[in-house]
Amino acid sequence: MKTSKWFIKHSETSVKCTLCPHECIIREGKSGSCRVRSNKGGLLRPDNYGLISALRTDPIEKKPLYHFYPGSGIFSVGSAGCNLRCVFCQNCEISQVISLDDILGLQHYEPQQIVDNARTVAGNLGIAFTYNEPTVWYDFMFDTARQAKSIGLKTVMVTNGYINRAPLSELLEVTDAFSVDLKGFTEEFYHKASSARLEPVKESIKQIAAAKRHFEIVNLVIPDMNDNRQTFNEMVKWISGELGKETVLHLSKYFPMYKLNTPATSTALLEELHEMASQHLDYVYLGNAESHHNNTYCPQCKSLVIVRHGYNTVLTGIDASGNCSKCRTKILKYI
Ligand code: SF4
Ligand code: SF4
Repeated sequence: MKTSKWFIKHSETSVKCTLCPHECIIREGKSGSCRVRSNKGGLLRPDNYGLISALRTDPIEKKPLYHFYPGSGIFSVGSAGCNLRCVFCQNCEISQVISLDDILGLQHYEPQQIVDNARTVAGNLGIAFTYNEPTVWYDFMFDTARQAKSIGLKTVMVTNGYINRAPLSELLEVTDAFSVDLKGFTEEFYHKASSARLEPVKESIKQIAAAKRHFEIVNLVIPDMNDNRQTFNEMVKWISGELGKETVLHLSKYFPMYKLNTPATSTALLEELHEMASQHLDYVYLGNAESHHNNTYCPQCKSLVIVRHGYNTVLTGIDASGNCSKCRTKILKYI
């Protein structure tokens, strides 16, 4: 059984997990808040190491990443567990487990097997760690990503951003791109809706940006919960001011799930917030919703440069250097 690097001894009978801001104190034989990391014999064991709940090739746009190798497929893997408790969780059957034994069909893989599978997929860009929260799968994700990078595959993490600075710093060395949730913009919302704090998420996003990794931000819009216009405007201004107006923001439509019965987000609300966000940001998209706000326009000359119909993506106005073909403004920064 693997031992995690991210813990310290706390007492004779307990350890402290240092992976995420919860910093759980875990007694012998018990698990942390994520329920997938436990104290066995004074060592922190990642119980979900190598356990796979889902494995398939998705369009990169599904992560969602719209400005990272648009139109590519990416081999996507997930496990079980999460360090948050979002009442609206859209993946609760694998994220909110009481015990790993409750999940049917988990299969065991070694990192090399995942990499071998990924490289046999024709035209595959790389590996995405997604579906449940990959932070609580850190040890397996890190080992797999390192091997994937060594043979030239790209690596992507789809995350809530609730991770401590030191583990994220090491992860940045083996991860090319991040899709990060910014679920709301008040401590109250994060506390009530996700049993977490906002500030560590902001710090993670700033750390990813400072490391110059590709990242895009996802905000799930939930009516009457995180759609206060003033707060939303503050969030958008923070993204623009702190991270840059070229930061990609996805406003995603919520559907009733898990513990939340609030009706689904209306198109009118998404359109209104899209308009507000577009005052400060160059690239704002609507997710989980049929919309013309899925295309990419050059922020300088307004040319249509990427057309998206569902997950069908066509680059219509981008040159080989990732610039607008008409005015040469940089659109795709990874090139
Ligand atoms: S990763 Fe899990 S065990 Fe570690 S601090 Fe976070 S919730 Fe607790
Ligand atoms: S962070 Fe994501 S996976 Fe975890 S509970 Fe929240 S919505 Fe679900």
